Amino acid sequence: MLNVVIFGGPGSGKGTQSVYIAEKYGLFHLSTGDLLRAELKTKSALGQEIDSYISKGNLVPDKLMIDMLAGVLDRERPKVKGFIFDGFPRTLAQAEALNDMLAERDTNISVVLDMDVNDDELVKRLLNRGLTSGRSDDNEETIKSRLNVYHTQTAPVAAFYKEAGCLSKIKGIGTIEEIFGRIQNAIDKVK
Ligand code: AMP
Repeated sequence: MLNVVIFGGPGSGKGTQSVYIAEKYGLFHLSTGDLLRAELKTKSALGQEIDSYISKGNLVPDKLMIDMLAGVLDRERPKVKGFIFDGFPRTLAQAEALNDMLAERDTNISVVLDMDVNDDELVKRLLNRGLTSGRSDDNEETIKSRLNVYHTQTAPVAAFYKEAGCLSKIKGIGTIEEIFGRIQNAIDKVK
């Protein structure tokens, strides 16, 4: 299996690039943000709990995320060549759980794409996206808190993958095509 993690701050292009990666390599696009927003739409009790985290820019608890991910992994695995994990892992506990979940299924992470975009550019992109996204978290206050959560809780996960030797830094500034070109180079090296 080809299992790719796309890693980076909010607005670093993870979702956009994941669509291209999934299409080109035959992978299932597993976006935890999309899964959570789908649950939110159902207005279930779980959806309301999730909303209380997302709208403040906080992370949803690890256990909930890991259980959600395992379910999708088992449902989709027989149908695809691998996964592109978009927005997961966001904590060290999630990274460790993902390693374990993949090992239990006789596979592993092929490469982690670390999307490198500076904070000023991230804020600019998210505010711009907020004009049309309808997302409760694309506003100035929540963007600040998402960036803070990214730097304190998520960015340290990069060191975990660097240590494991599978981290590939990708310059995340440029046109969508230029960035996708860099990503393909990184994936083709490990395929
Ligand atoms: P995203 O669409 O990836 O930007 O995610 C939107 C929001 O969903 C995040 O700000 C978090 O509140 C929540 N979320 C998404 N993925 C995760 C995750 N792996 N762990 C915890 N919370 C998550």
